[in-house]
Amino acid sequence: MLIGVLALQGGFQRHLVMLERIGVRTIEVRYAHQLEKCDALVLPGGESTTMTHLLLTENLWEPIHEFVQAHPVFGTCAGAILLSQNAHDTRVKPFGVLDVEADRNAYGRQVESFITILNLAEIGCDAYEAVFIRAPQLKLASNRVQVLGSENGRAVLLRQNNVLAATFHPELTQDPAIHRYFVESMVRKSLTITNKAQANV
Ligand code: GLN
Repeated sequence: MLIGVLALQGGFQRHLVMLERIGVRTIEVRYAHQLEKCDALVLPGGESTTMTHLLLTENLWEPIHEFVQAHPVFGTCAGAILLSQNAHDTRVKPFGVLDVEADRNAYGRQVESFITILNLAEIGCDAYEAVFIRAPQLKLASNRVQVLGSENGRAVLLRQNNVLAATFHPELTQDPAIHRYFVESMVRKSLTITNKAQANV
């Protein structure tokens, strides 16, 4: 298994560390051809406007758009915004694979960033320390989205088939529970299905 982490901008480094800590091989993705080797992709936090600009100028937007239709993807904060249907900002061009509307910086400015404890019973973790940094709020736009965690009645950890999104920063805590969930319940499962399909040909 090889998981790519988009490394154009933002907090990609800590995702690499977290994935390696749980025994997953990783690659920093900066060029489209690198996606060919990847079984899954992580879109880190950062600035979704800057990331969109870089994705377009580096000719990565289309290849990633194609990749996320067929492989597991995990977007955190700005990465989650990029997975949404609409970010209500002309500078952001999301991939549209998660049925949510994103409201960028919805909690306020940097001083409004906070840490809180989430109950993520769905993934077997009842006290998860979540770091919110100029986080977006995501409004569910269909019933295909499964809410795996909420904060103050707002969905903050969401899944839609092969797509996982967190409005906070799971790579900044010590707890690998969410990365492990992505790897074991989503990436490994999709690899098993692909292998089975290939064996049946
Ligand atoms: N506010 C940023 C954006 O809109 C996201 C912040 C983050 O990724 N920590 O893209």
